[in-house]
Amino acid sequence: MDFEPVIGLEVHAQLTTKSKLFCACSTEFNAPANAHVCPVCAGHPGTLPVLNAKAVEHALKAALALDCKVNLRSVFARKNYFYPDLPKGYQITQFDLPICQHGHLDIEVGTRSKRVGITRIHMEEDAGKSVHAQGYSLVNLNRAATPLIEIVSEPDIRSAEEAGAYLRKLRIKNVNSFRFVEKAIDYEINRQTQLIQSGGQVLQETRTYDSGKGVTISMRGKEEAHDYRYFPEPDLIPLMISQETLETVRSKLPELPDQKRDRFIAELGIPAYDSAVITSSRKLAEFFEVAVSRCGNAKAVSNWVMGEMLRLLKLDEREVDDMEMQPDELGALIRMIDAGTISNTIAKTVFEEMYKTGQDPEAIVKEKGLMQISDTSAILQAIDKVIAGNAGQVAEYRSGKDKLMGFFVGQVMKQMGGKANPGVVNELLKRKLGATS
Ligand SMILES: [Zn+2]
Repeated sequence: MDFEPVIGLEVHAQLTTKSKLFCACSTEFNAPANAHVCPVCAGHPGTLPVLNAKAVEHALKAALALDCKVNLRSVFARKNYFYPDLPKGYQITQFDLPICQHGHLDIEVGTRSKRVGITRIHMEEDAGKSVHAQGYSLVNLNRAATPLIEIVSEPDIRSAEEAGAYLRKLRIKNVNSFRFVEKAIDYEINRQTQLIQSGGQVLQETRTYDSGKGVTISMRGKEEAHDYRYFPEPDLIPLMISQETLETVRSKLPELPDQKRDRFIAELGIPAYDSAVITSSRKLAEFFEVAVSRCGNAKAVSNWVMGEMLRLLKLDEREVDDMEMQPDELGALIRMIDAGTISNTIAKTVFEEMYKTGQDPEAIVKEKGLMQISDTSAILQAIDKVIAGNAGQVAEYRSGKDKLMGFFVGQVMKQMGGKANPGVVNELLKRKLGATS
């Protein structure tokens, strides 16, 4: 029996505001426990929430970036449940009238492009954090009422790889989580397939992924599903967004990945496939642009990034932001190749060293004596040796077998440890071999 995995994702993203969603408390990360709490976010009776305008602006940016239809009138709702880290006894979120709906995100998987529908994006506040110790629990309310959006996708995703591409394009910061999501999805596809094949039934439940063991574990079954009893938040009037506000936000949108991809193709002349890969991650696109600005050779940067760099990163299971090598250094390496200071072969060695140590390419070349030799007398010496040692081939070449030129170039390069300037070698070889002695 064949199965088709049908996957939808709900992604929570924090809106990067300085203060919380309904009060002036700071959203600073890693502050001492309960340093950022006030009567509003601690849920004291009689306090009233005031909506953070900056959070609305950020949510609108997400809405526009994902081509959503913005609801010019949206409503906040109370989602009721009891938990120690939720002091009000309810979470303020949006329910039947979210800030936007019906968007989409185009993802690239391999060479194929695919559209994933966005059902809705709604604004909500985060809960606090419970810390469980031996025999007692502590609550930290620093995160309580931190502004979030929840991005809900249509069930358009068909594999772990597509889910990974979707999350990367949404640019979720926690890099490790991508791989865990992919592994968890693959695990679930196998588990559910086997379950159905052995006559079982897949239950609707909440499962968690144990990254250490590489398995998913049931947390809550349907029988324990909460009845949240949503109702409109009486302390907040409906959120009205004017067309003018929407246009102001639109004008402030940064360049989106697809626009960047098209610009790299049009302005920098790199292949469409390369551009799609490079702009699939903001960090990678930034790395690329800085390197290009340092050497002015976009094609070469694209080749190094798409080839050696991504190959090594994949091998090490690392991402571009935890790499030692900086874009300035790649730019400098390409400048050295373009100036003929080092050959392409040597550059590969230098690149590997740069990748490993983050060292400057000029320092590596100097330290390891890898400078390309353009000095004709040294090259001529090597040529003489090669000619003396390969009389047969020399005769064949001189009788018209031009193809042997590659062989001679190779031999001379070998003599010189790959450091000879190939242009000079070619020219001198032609001269030497052309002359019948
Ligand atoms: Zn507060």
